[in-house]
Amino acid sequence: MRRRTFLKSIAAGGLKTIVSRLPSGLQARSAIRSRVRPSDLGWPRTDRWEKLNQVVGGNLIKPRPLFATCQEEQNGAACAEATRNMRNPFYIGDQPAGTEVSGWLDAWTPAPSEYAVRVRNTADVIAVVNFARENNLRLVVKGGGHSYLGTSNAPDSLLIWTRAMNRVILHDAFVAKGCEGQFAPAPAVTAEAGAMWIDLYDAVTTRGGRYVQGGGCTSVGVAGLVQSGGFGSFSKGFGTAAAGLLEAEVVTADGRVRVANACTNPDLFWAVKGGGGGSWGVVTRLTLRTHDLPEFFGWAEGKITAKSNDAFRQLITRFVAFYTENLFNPHWGEQIRLGPDNTLELSMVSQGLDDDQITRLWRPFFDVVKSAGDLTVSAIDAGAAHSRHWWDVVYRKSKGSDAMISDPRPDAPASHAWWSGDQDQVGAFIHAYDSLWLPASLLRRKESDRLGDALFAASRHHRIELHFNKGIAGAPSEAVAATRDTATNPAVTDAFVLVIIADGERPADPGLARPAVDTNAARKNAQQIDLAAAELRKIAPNAGSYVSESDFFNAEWQRTYWGANYPKLRSIKRKYDPDGLFFVHHGVGSEEWSADGFTRG
Ligand SMILES: Cc1cc2nc3c(=O)[nH]c(=O)nc-3n(C[C@H](O)[C@H](O)[C@H](O)COP(=O)(O)OP(=O)(O)OC[C@H]3O[C@@H](n4cnc5c(N)ncnc54)[C@H](O)[C@@H]3O)c2cc1C
Repeated sequence: MRRRTFLKSIAAGGLKTIVSRLPSGLQARSAIRSRVRPSDLGWPRTDRWEKLNQVVGGNLIKPRPLFATCQEEQNGAACAEATRNMRNPFYIGDQPAGTEVSGWLDAWTPAPSEYAVRVRNTADVIAVVNFARENNLRLVVKGGGHSYLGTSNAPDSLLIWTRAMNRVILHDAFVAKGCEGQFAPAPAVTAEAGAMWIDLYDAVTTRGGRYVQGGGCTSVGVAGLVQSGGFGSFSKGFGTAAAGLLEAEVVTADGRVRVANACTNPDLFWAVKGGGGGSWGVVTRLTLRTHDLPEFFGWAEGKITAKSNDAFRQLITRFVAFYTENLFNPHWGEQIRLGPDNTLELSMVSQGLDDDQITRLWRPFFDVVKSAGDLTVSAIDAGAAHSRHWWDVVYRKSKGSDAMISDPRPDAPASHAWWSGDQDQVGAFIHAYDSLWLPASLLRRKESDRLGDALFAASRHHRIELHFNKGIAGAPSEAVAATRDTATNPAVTDAFVLVIIADGERPADPGLARPAVDTNAARKNAQQIDLAAAELRKIAPNAGSYVSESDFFNAEWQRTYWGANYPKLRSIKRKYDPDGLFFVHHGVGSEEWSADGFTRG
């Protein structure tokens, strides 16, 4: 309740501030004040929908809630299928109304669009964008469906669903349009908007022997992640996914197809690189740089539990010192988790180091924690393997690994698998979520005590996750420079880590038979997350936050997501989408609209 009231007041206050800052010409320019709903007189008549359906080859659909069949017939085959697959991210993504998370306490509930178009190509996208604009509809775009903030679903809307556009093409020597003679040809990969990262990893790494910087979760959509900035396990080596973008094709609100790259429409190109999904137009394809594949990817895992608070505080000091000296470099990413039960869970990965280097690197730390009388250690291990098999689920299975879970459906591609570590998130109902970037200056000797104290204090309230791969300080200078040349908050390149504090519970989709969510307990959990984040904000008072993994109720989203880049993003938004056809919660320009995106001003 408190969170909702808070949100309303922010929306109202934020709007006044921004509108008054706009030049008067721009304030007057847009005529669109509201979007129509199915209950409104202006809603397109059936014949118009039929015409659209013809234009898009019969791909206009009426999406139904994921568990609609369970409400109709609890024991029916369709309900059984939905229930069987509700923890399968690929199945969820294959449903027009599917969302990877099943909602967020006091924030949003999955709600299908009134209509969706399963677009097959750019021409379909143009047709739907024009239809939405001409009929003044609330438009939504969905790719992988992994928006935590619920920005790819909205009731009473028309959905552009890119799932069926998923071709992936490799290039030996790609030159962006208009960049001929200005940039050297580069090896690259082009993906259509509906492709998921596993599709690229399969083509680029498993089959192609190269590397592309994408996301960690295999079923995240390529277009959604690149527009978020986007981090994968090895981003400390290569920068954000957006930093690797060479070109995008975008259908803008006027229905025009625009190529965006460093030489053609460079402002749109920059905005698409981290300016947030669903705000600029429909990205129909993206081309990303590929890199030489490091020979090895590695890992360090384990669980260390301290027998007292003091011992845990000391363990944090030890780890921070070990990290600063040995891991704060392009090789090491992913995370550690610090919990109220005085446990440090280690789940780190590396690129470019062989088994021997890794074993030698970690031995001193492992020896110390194993021999400490006030710590218990379990399943501690570090090593490396040939990188080409990292995303190769068939190979992994042949070696007895259970690190990846295959899509069990009979017609699923063999490469479609998700990390077992991501399983808990599939279908999760979010209680609360927050993230903040901590500057690398906190690793300096004279600051490290403050850092240790704050991490310890935060972990008293809730488990915190330190995602080192999501802070780009410590990366190679080219990766830092390429990330700086994106719309993501520049704080990302000064940060050694993104701390994520989040929690939720098992799926709570509408229509799913389950006991009601215990909202009191969930709100208490949300409060603990707020308290933990507050401890960390004491040492990083103006910390930025990652647009895609952040608090739905973030009061300062413009500053925290984009920092000094926000005014430039606003002006690019006005140029390409003056009528706000592309609206998402806390997207650039969304402060001009009501929370549901239907009413302006
Ligand atoms: C389980 C899980 C794991 C995650 N793991 C990571 C991770 O490892 N690294 C990381 O950086 N992030 C991660 N994220 C966050 C994720 O990257 C973002 O939520 C991303 O935007 C999702 O893209 P999508 O296409 O899958 O989702 P969608 O919900 O389909 O889209 C997300 C946003 O992008 C817009 N969008 C999608 N496609 C297009 C398009 N073609 N044109 C224009 N707008 C479009 C949508 O309108 C929406 O606003 C994760 C999220 C979840 C739920």
